[in-house]
Amino acid sequence: MTLNELLKFDREHIWHPYTSALHPLEACAVDSAEGSVIRLADGRELVDGMSSWWAVVHGYNNPRINAAISAQLKKMSHVMFGGLTHEPAVSLAQKLLQMAPQNLRHVFFCDSGSVSVEVAMKMALQYWNSRGEHAKTKFATIRLGYHGDTWNAMSVCDPITGMHKIFAGALAPQIFTHSPRVPFGGAWDASDLDELRETFERRGGEIAALILEPIVQGAGAMRFYHPEFLRGARKLCDEYKILLICDEIATGFGRTGKMFACEHAEISPDIMCLGKAITGGYLSFAATLASRDVAMTISEGEAGVFMHGPTFMANPLACAAANASLELACEEGYLGNVLRIEKFFKENLEEARGIECVADVRVLGAIGVVEMKEPVDVRQMQREFVSRGVWVRPFGRLVYLMPPFVIEEAQLQKLTCALKEVLKKKNVRGN
Ligand SMILES: *Cc1c(COP(=O)(O)O)cnc(C)c1O
Repeated sequence: MTLNELLKFDREHIWHPYTSALHPLEACAVDSAEGSVIRLADGRELVDGMSSWWAVVHGYNNPRINAAISAQLKKMSHVMFGGLTHEPAVSLAQKLLQMAPQNLRHVFFCDSGSVSVEVAMKMALQYWNSRGEHAKTKFATIRLGYHGDTWNAMSVCDPITGMHKIFAGALAPQIFTHSPRVPFGGAWDASDLDELRETFERRGGEIAALILEPIVQGAGAMRFYHPEFLRGARKLCDEYKILLICDEIATGFGRTGKMFACEHAEISPDIMCLGKAITGGYLSFAATLASRDVAMTISEGEAGVFMHGPTFMANPLACAAANASLELACEEGYLGNVLRIEKFFKENLEEARGIECVADVRVLGAIGVVEMKEPVDVRQMQREFVSRGVWVRPFGRLVYLMPPFVIEEAQLQKLTCALKEVLKKKNVRGN
């Protein structure tokens, strides 16, 4: 198959994320990837600014993760988890419980981030069901959130950016409060929690859990909010008997400069969702962690069991990749690398604020965000970035960088220079 044939078939028959079958966005064919570089089928090389959507923290083709998967492949790639268990799953659960906030004691393995959110929501419902609180069936959340694309996960995504109107009437109606107003690093103002408190006061009896992304609202907004908001939300949940679900799928494993974003506020959720970087971006895999209280209460309930069990639960290959990834994450210098990237972005992205089409520049950990005044032309901008040898994929008004943590200084330079060039050029053209 020639490259042109490949691209033609792809365009005509294969769906990509959020694209039209009629007018698909251009896709670049990738041949291989190594470290922080994606090699295209036509030979061009792109410095990766996306970590394949938060996931590839140790870089592509990492020798340690490769070796772990190869070794596991020779033993078994999969066995069912009903009635069977294995060392890769047990080692991984031990590591996760050691790293995560202390009150989380039970692990449920599943296939993807969205599924781990479904699992978390189901846990919350079964928890209140077990306690005879049958009215607690709704979820509260903050606006501008993103929790995945499956049915119930979608119900707690921001109604506007999550496009609820397409599914109007079919999604479970949930309870939304405003997105935190005080930014990370801003001066805390306690009135930011007023609406949440009023909502809990009025409707606490119907609310099973508050679900939110801690500190960083990712795919919905790329906003960073004040840790006091999260700390206050934890207190309000305790006060009004509402479980707290922290969706750490994007933020978990170091992206914000702490191993988990909850640590910025020094809180523990009752249920935590993990995904994306858990396997270093090698395989689709996720975990939902629960407190002892949540696990025990569910088990003492009417059903006596937690009602979920995916076919590929605790897949050994994914567990092996995750074990290697977490070993790397616990080594000296891992979080230091994130702080190195944060420092670089603070020194090199800030000047983009002077470009006329730019509304705001924000940096936290290994995340650099440039918010534009108007939505960008993704097709055009993707081309501009590829022609400059970098992989950056904007959405809406957001052009952002979240590279693998192993990225080198010269590669960071290339990313930020390309970004500023493309934004300046856009400005000159006035489009
Ligand atoms: C990506 C993401 C999800 C969904 O994960 P998938 O693996 O794509 O299903 C859920 N929540 C957050 C915060 C995410 O960033």
